[in-house]
Amino acid sequence: MRSLYLCGVLTLLACLGRREASAQDTAAEEARRRAMVIAQLPPDAAKILFGRESTPAAGPPQAIGSYERGCLSGAIALPADGPNWQVMRPSRNRAWGHPALIAFLERLAQDLPGEAGWPGLLVGDIAQPRGGPMLTGHGSHQIGLDADIWLTPMPNRRLSPAERDGISATDVVARNGMDVDPTVWTPQHRLLLEAVAREPLVERVFVNAAIKRALCRDGGLERAWMAKIRPWWGHNYHFHIRLFCPSGSRQCRGQTRPPPGDGCGKELDWWFTEEALHPRPSPPRKPLRLGNLPPACAALVAAPAGQALQLRSPSQ
Ligand SMILES: [Zn+2]
Repeated sequence: MRSLYLCGVLTLLACLGRREASAQDTAAEEARRRAMVIAQLPPDAAKILFGRESTPAAGPPQAIGSYERGCLSGAIALPADGPNWQVMRPSRNRAWGHPALIAFLERLAQDLPGEAGWPGLLVGDIAQPRGGPMLTGHGSHQIGLDADIWLTPMPNRRLSPAERDGISATDVVARNGMDVDPTVWTPQHRLLLEAVAREPLVERVFVNAAIKRALCRDGGLERAWMAKIRPWWGHNYHFHIRLFCPSGSRQCRGQTRPPPGDGCGKELDWWFTEEALHPRPSPPRKPLRLGNLPPACAALVAAPAGQALQLRSPSQ
């Protein structure tokens, strides 16, 4: 049973990527990291092909493939500023998503002050203009249905572009990783995560295990919503929202539902073992080639911007 669980964890690890720490990298650090990655990759690595796209492929919105192996057509960008949100790290050009996700984030941002006392969203990486794997960070975020949200409440002023590319988010986890840091964690953090997890379009929310531990402690009696809150490495500066495949995206491959229950028992305890807190480094993974993605992604990466893309429907 345990080995089955571990196997699931390891598969997930391969999919999501253990290290999302570069989510915090400033624009200069990010540029250095990108150059380093490009130098080490074969020229047909999917990361390079999708990473250099600066415009979306026109056409009907389609999330194609799975969260960690796919691409996106008909993406739209979340505007840099809205009444209750600000896009962070704008120089990365990763504020693109499936229109269903962008509409969801705009509405969520609007509802949160009333629902959770959370003033607004600082939005981190969503997806590249055509989705696909990224040169830095993130195993997933490939089909425009994943978004990172900072655990820093939105300030009551507009941040400058330089601030958005340079400032760091708030680390809400204590140094030893065993719990949240009580000097920065607030009841509004819990209300924010609960409000997001209760949204019917949300499939999963990834947080650091210490955050899950705090939610388990303070989450109240009715806690079915907690099943969607999944512990993962990192996610101490931001949390990760994942939506279900939208209707109309027939080539979108969803995930199995998380197990029912609040996930606060044994499953959570594992995250505080030595094995989980200090995992042995895993061998580098082979870079994804274009041929590893669904066939429609090869057409999509080659399509000029603004040209309607004919997606072949999957075989019946
Ligand atoms: Zn993420």
